[in-house]
Amino acid sequence: MTGTPTRVLVLNSGSSSVKYQLLDMGDGGRLAQGLVERIGEDTSRLAHTPLRGGGAKRERTGPIPDHAAALKAVAEELAADGLGLDSPELAAIGHRVVHGGLRFTEPTVIDEEVVAEIERLVPVAPLHNPANLLGIRTAMAMRPDLPQVAVFDTAFHTTMPEAAARYAIDVETADAHRIRRYGFHGTSHAYVSRAAAKLLGKEPGEVNVIVLHLGNGASASAVRGGRCVDTSMGLTPLEGLVMGTRSGDVDPAVTFHLKRVAGMSADEIDVLLNKKSGLVGLCGDNDMREIRRRIDEGDERAALAFDIYIHRLKKYIGAYYAVLGRVDAVVFTAGVGENAAPVREAAIAGLEELGLAVDADLNAVRSDEPRVISPVYARVAVAVVPTDEELEIARQTFELTGGKVTRTTNA
Ligand code: AMP
Repeated sequence: MTGTPTRVLVLNSGSSSVKYQLLDMGDGGRLAQGLVERIGEDTSRLAHTPLRGGGAKRERTGPIPDHAAALKAVAEELAADGLGLDSPELAAIGHRVVHGGLRFTEPTVIDEEVVAEIERLVPVAPLHNPANLLGIRTAMAMRPDLPQVAVFDTAFHTTMPEAAARYAIDVETADAHRIRRYGFHGTSHAYVSRAAAKLLGKEPGEVNVIVLHLGNGASASAVRGGRCVDTSMGLTPLEGLVMGTRSGDVDPAVTFHLKRVAGMSADEIDVLLNKKSGLVGLCGDNDMREIRRRIDEGDERAALAFDIYIHRLKKYIGAYYAVLGRVDAVVFTAGVGENAAPVREAAIAGLEELGLAVDADLNAVRSDEPRVISPVYARVAVAVVPTDEELEIARQTFELTGGKVTRTTNA
């Protein structure tokens, strides 16, 4: 089969992992997906699942020393399914890049100058951008002839007005160190807000939407007519909602208090707030299923953690309602938002005066499809829209490199 190439490989490279999906943009379908974990250790593992042709999931274990070896192993697995990276049907590779700063407002074809700019942003994304760059460099060495595109987690939020993006701190200090609110999860907020408009039978430009991306990381955004006007994550993904292991909003004085009173270093405070806080810090668990189970058994710590999580969520719904003025839909997405009916019910409870309500029967339905869960009389729709960041990265990559998306699911 030849003709216009339609396949896009999506790579999400972390410091010790690479997640990948191969999609066919001819029909928006998935051909294969997988994950390489614990790169650099003796116990590395590659799990590969072919998604067409009925092949079974395959695993490799044993040392994978670096990202180059990881991508080589991925290429071998894909080749075994007849989907090799040397195939003329591969149109492009799309890379998830966490931080694009102010420079990258759109998906961007990667060249040496773009690589240098992503590198220049390492001080504001020290954990993520170096890992993303490893994946980019490796893939470029492997297929230097193929268009490669960076899709930035921050890009969707670059439309935020200065009033929302600036912290009220000394302007010279802020600008010298590029301190401002960038926001993250942008690919998901873009996809979900567009899919929500479609669910309502409207164009994205016609609707105002509050998107609640509730996964292990969590963020809210206010989207007016398809453009983000505010989001809850800031300079880093630490700000905003209570998350699995991150505190979200705290008084910044907590940090210097911990330094002065508890003698903690900046790195220790970083670990405390990013890794040992949020739901895990409050009750020892970050999985909402486990927290609900404990609540059902009468566990008070789990119940308090849930209440704190919901209280923060409700504050952001109210705040973004005020920012938008008029809201057409509040949309839940990601692991918790798509699956945890009690979270949706509790977050919307008591907001009837704002035109918000959840229908208990509709909320209880389990489905992979976008759906409205508010009663017909509600002025504002409440919806669940499964996010699909890989499809969105593939779509943006494909369109930027000259492909025409004829059909994709949901958006
Ligand atoms: P994500 O980061 O989007 O993959 O979301 C992961 C989180 O989703 C997990 O930590 C769980 O808290 C939550 N989650 C996944 N499945 C369920 C479920 N069936 N019910 C409640 N929470 C869930």
